[in-house]
Amino acid sequence: MSQQEPKATTGATEQGAERTLDPVSGLIHHPYRPPGGFESVLPGVHKASTVYFPDVKALRTRDWRHKEGYTYGLHGTPTTFTLEERIAHLEGARHCVLAPSGLSALALVNLALLKPGDEVLLPDNVYGPSKELARTMLADWGVAHRVYNPMDPASALASMGPSTRLMWVEAPGSVTMEFPDLRALVRDARSRGITVALDNTWGAGLAFKPFDLAHGMDGRADQPLAVDVCMHALTKYPSGGGDVLMGSITTVDRRLHEKLLMAHMRLGVGVGANDVEAVLRSLPSIELRYDAQDRAARELASWLAVQHGVAQVLHPALPGSPGHAHWASLCTRAAGIFSILLDEQLPASAADAFVDALRLFRIGYSWAGPVSLVVPYALDAMRQDCSHLRGHLVRLCIGLEAVDDLKADLAQALSVMHDHHA
Ligand SMILES: *Cc1c(COP(=O)(O)O)cnc(C)c1O
Repeated sequence: MSQQEPKATTGATEQGAERTLDPVSGLIHHPYRPPGGFESVLPGVHKASTVYFPDVKALRTRDWRHKEGYTYGLHGTPTTFTLEERIAHLEGARHCVLAPSGLSALALVNLALLKPGDEVLLPDNVYGPSKELARTMLADWGVAHRVYNPMDPASALASMGPSTRLMWVEAPGSVTMEFPDLRALVRDARSRGITVALDNTWGAGLAFKPFDLAHGMDGRADQPLAVDVCMHALTKYPSGGGDVLMGSITTVDRRLHEKLLMAHMRLGVGVGANDVEAVLRSLPSIELRYDAQDRAARELASWLAVQHGVAQVLHPALPGSPGHAHWASLCTRAAGIFSILLDEQLPASAADAFVDALRLFRIGYSWAGPVSLVVPYALDAMRQDCSHLRGHLVRLCIGLEAVDDLKADLAQALSVMHDHHA
């Protein structure tokens, strides 16, 4: 198709019957086509709103839904199809839909799978904007939601009613980092016919296999246990640069994928080819970056746990963190992000002074980029139940700086905090 000759002919021709085009028209319809067969490390970047059809029959019959052709930039290009296939591979899925941000991917799952009268379940530690969406727009459209305690599968089970259609799970939850018994939550929901959607941004397809959760369990490897839908903020590890926003939704089930794909088409939430290129370029190093940030984060988390003024470190790989045993039964890896609770005896202004004193850690949202980041959070505004947590909550995301530099930065900021309080 890409080798199609243009309809207009430029320049003088020997037939003489052809009209010579105006120079600008000749430029726009220039007939040169480079030879095919070019292969290099990064696949080509195809940018398009318009996609050409050779004739009317092709226009009427071309099918983009099975990746058998191209119709319009929104419905896929060689560039977006390539990233979709690679993300599906990363997560052990079959199908993938790309969206312009992690949040838009999350919203798309809700819009595609829920209708008025349905109920959606959210863990109390779900990514914050997910709760906001449920509280406002989903509620306006007649979709109810319930918040369950992710650390108490019985509470989740009790929340499942006859109109529950979708349950979100996150492992670990955002900011407070509790790691749930994912297998129990998924098993209970699926046994009731409830679709399970995982926000897999933390696991990134590397920490555990969302479509094969029983993998590695003694004597149970024969039992298929999987989430139905996996949403991933590619903004984080797959990009790794702090400069791209993108999200993905992967599935194994073709019927579910078609629902998501049709909602994607109807809403028009396409992605730009340059952003896709940036993610394709970063993907081969995802495991190296994930493991490097994991090592650095664990070293800093363990060090912080014994510092004066730090009441608790919330990192699922650290013994004593909420859900550590669940993490250990599913993962050996962890993302390079964790939170600390500064001593509740300190005034809130001392916690702010700690954050302001950091120099290498920049104050800003998002994570998994090259620069370490810090954000203070107000616990009670975020949770229905935070009785297990006491102190001033600060989230740290570890970048690619040398660990000793980050440790020195944290040490000096802690001493500024103590001076502030003294
Ligand atoms: C960042 C993030 C999102 C949203 O991704 P954006 O691309 O920033 O919209 C969703 N879930 C989790 C867990 C995230 O960390």
